[in-house]
Amino acid sequence: MAEKKTLQFDFNPNYCKSCGICYGLCPKQVLGPDEEGRPQVVNREACILCKMCELRCPDFAIRVKGV
Ligand code: SF4
Ligand code: SF4
Repeated sequence: MAEKKTLQFDFNPNYCKSCGICYGLCPKQVLGPDEEGRPQVVNREACILCKMCELRCPDFAIRVKGV
């Protein structure tokens, strides 16, 4: 049986405008805001690798993959 893949969250803070879309729509509350309103991983194990955060970020600041 294939092992469950773990989220690798690549984030470019230079592109992020702290809009909150990514952690607002993550269906598993994997992401939460840091003190500047940027995303941080708060529950990596819950990630289902749906890529919503990557696809919905208007500024292409996020890349996710399973490793
Ligand atoms: S959706 Fe993109 S721009 Fe908005 S807070 Fe998340 S990473 Fe930053
Ligand atoms: S890939 Fe999906 S579940 Fe994982 S952090 Fe992004 S929105 Fe959340």
